[in-house]
Amino acid sequence: MLPYVIINDENCQNRNILTTPAEDVAFPLSEEDHKIIELITYQFRHEENCAGLAAPQIGFSKRIIIFSVPEEVQEYRVDATSVIPETLLINPVFKPIGNQKTLDWETCFSVSDYGGEIERYTHIYYEGFDINGNKIEGEAAGFAARLIQHEIDHINGCLYIHLLKPEARQGKLEEIRAIRQAEFAAKKEIYATNQD
Ligand SMILES: [Zn+2]
Repeated sequence: MLPYVIINDENCQNRNILTTPAEDVAFPLSEEDHKIIELITYQFRHEENCAGLAAPQIGFSKRIIIFSVPEEVQEYRVDATSVIPETLLINPVFKPIGNQKTLDWETCFSVSDYGGEIERYTHIYYEGFDINGNKIEGEAAGFAARLIQHEIDHINGCLYIHLLKPEARQGKLEEIRAIRQAEFAAKKEIYATNQD
């Protein structure tokens, strides 16, 4: 496993990689690109509770992201309604579908011991390429849309903390854990009612 580049860790030498737009990937992929893909895939598969990663987080300024939404996410995200298998996207972009936004908690492997509530588009269209240069496109809603926006923001040099409004609830993980747990049950009930 590679160490994460962490924005609030002063010992991290290459922190500026997190706030710099990453480089486009050219096809066919170079040896280096294949290596980065191998590393990020390994990291993603071996990290616990990891929904997504972007190449700058492990030290590579390249437009590569990986994510999935397994069924278990529904145990702590009310809007994780669509299951998405492991997906690696090269040069990904997204566009909102409509203006609706949802407020929910986010954390990040590149922000140590912190979390906060961020507004994200509820529905998006996204596209990118697989390792052979074939286009992958889709629509995502709820948690999946949030996750994809979070990862694409990474390769644009934007972390969730840059989107945190001063009035948004935020804090150390231990502080916010209790709030999140207490709210989850209530939210779940409201969400279920709204879907009827
Ligand atoms: Zn992140």
